[in-house]
Amino acid sequence: MDLRPKPKMEPQRVDNTVFDIVIIGGGINGCGIARDAAGRGLSVALFEKNDLASGTSSSSTKLIHGGLRYLEHYEFRLVRESLKEREVLLEMAPHISWPLRFVLPHLKDLRPAWLIRIGLFLYDNLGGRKILPGSCSVNLKTDVAGLPLKDHLQKGFEYSDCWVNDARLVALNAMDAADRGVEINVRTEVTKAVRKDGLWHIEVLDERSGKRRIVLAKSLINAAGPWVADVLNRRIGSNANSQVRLVKGSHIVVPKQFDHDRAYIFQNADKRIIFAIPYEQDFTLIGTTDVDFDDDPINVAASDDEIAYLCKAASEYFIKTIDPKEVVWTYSGVRPLYDDGAASAQKATRDYVLELDGSADQPPLLNIYGGKITTFRRLAEDALEKLATRTTIPGKPWTAGTTLPGGDFPAGQFDHLFKNLCDDHPDIPPKLMFRLARGYGTRVPEVLKSDLGKHFGGGLYQSEVTYLIKNEWATTAEDILWRRTKLGLRLSQDEIKKLSKWMDENAASMVE
Ligand code: FAD
Repeated sequence: MDLRPKPKMEPQRVDNTVFDIVIIGGGINGCGIARDAAGRGLSVALFEKNDLASGTSSSSTKLIHGGLRYLEHYEFRLVRESLKEREVLLEMAPHISWPLRFVLPHLKDLRPAWLIRIGLFLYDNLGGRKILPGSCSVNLKTDVAGLPLKDHLQKGFEYSDCWVNDARLVALNAMDAADRGVEINVRTEVTKAVRKDGLWHIEVLDERSGKRRIVLAKSLINAAGPWVADVLNRRIGSNANSQVRLVKGSHIVVPKQFDHDRAYIFQNADKRIIFAIPYEQDFTLIGTTDVDFDDDPINVAASDDEIAYLCKAASEYFIKTIDPKEVVWTYSGVRPLYDDGAASAQKATRDYVLELDGSADQPPLLNIYGGKITTFRRLAEDALEKLATRTTIPGKPWTAGTTLPGGDFPAGQFDHLFKNLCDDHPDIPPKLMFRLARGYGTRVPEVLKSDLGKHFGGGLYQSEVTYLIKNEWATTAEDILWRRTKLGLRLSQDEIKKLSKWMDENAASMVE
């Protein structure tokens, strides 16, 4: 609970600027749409009630993937679009994303080998591949991938997908959007939105200053993720029957369980699958669960049952049993899925649905349900295409092939970038430089523009903190430790307190 004194409420102010689009929500979908729309010449303002990516978009499994298991639910459109997006995103952001090979140990009682081979054949061929290698069989008796696994697991398959730093993907979209003129407002909640005189009148409240303001817009986009129904029902007062199904998914982080750079996909007896993925150099990420959820998404957290489930499921495969006591961190997110009436949470569609609200003579409202990190760019294009049926949207889709901040180097050339950065900054330890290069790519020199300054612990220095405050809307220690970086895994409680105190004293004055 935030115990800081609430700022005094100030009277509301009406802005005379009329934005073409106002977006509610600074997750991947809101920021992706903002960037695309601004690049087409539209004026856009985005409001995020908390921090960028503080909702579902920092709590994903962080895979850019077609979703092998969605083939079992016949989601061919989604799988095809997602597979295609893998290489588009690798090229857009080659610093924060990279190819990842997945090892699938074979258990014939769960899924027969012929079924897996058909699935992998489709996976290799549905979406087209230029960079990523195709699937193959793996002999787990001879391959290092078999070393941490139980003896009876002798055969397996291997295929390609990609990894992305989800929270940084959001921040980089927001930065690029801002560079193209978008007004990004964090810690500013949309408290009410009404249609009046042919425009949207949107009331927003800045949590830090207590200032209320009315913003005018021709179109409104509800990209509030798991709060999509809350925005519709409580902020807009719509009676629309919001079709959202909230499904919680949790992950655990444990000390590194294996010594290679591939990930595992494990099949469970309950027909679900879980991933075990190399994470932040010294850890293994294991997830996820699928549990229907009916609370406020702000309260989402991993339950003891979910932690036990993930430990047990991974321990069916690893020789070394994973004890819940080894878990160093957990995180949970809420999937804002479109409610297609599926019987179980795991079967509910992962595809996105865009719903246009209002009659032809009213300013439009576009509600966004579902979606994946993987498909955010295509979702943004579809959102603008849908809006174009009601209002003027200039320009054409342009985001494929345009890099995000720090990503302006060829995909596959990360090692080259890293080496150059090390050569240019011989005083920076390689481990720190590696983390910075993965986070900021070609922008590392801007992060290191001044002296490293004060060390907050875990390789976090004042220069990086300052960069994040000035360029990436970070305002609290949590923004820095759990979203812009994952250094929360490395700082002690005492160090976190000191960083918080420093942020409280310095952050506001740096952005004034
Ligand atoms: P969010 O990220 O939740 O953003 C919505 C934002 O709206 C929030 O930040 C919230 O604070 C803000 N907001 C709400 N109400 C208001 C208001 N009134 N005013 C202002 N702001 C408001 N996808 C993949 O492609 N790959 C994966 O590996 C993957 N794994 C996943 C694993 C789990 C456990 C989960 C839960 C999801 C996973 N996904 C994955 C799906 C993906 O994470 C989501 O589809 C995506 O993050 C949704 O983004 P969003 O922008 O719609 O929502």
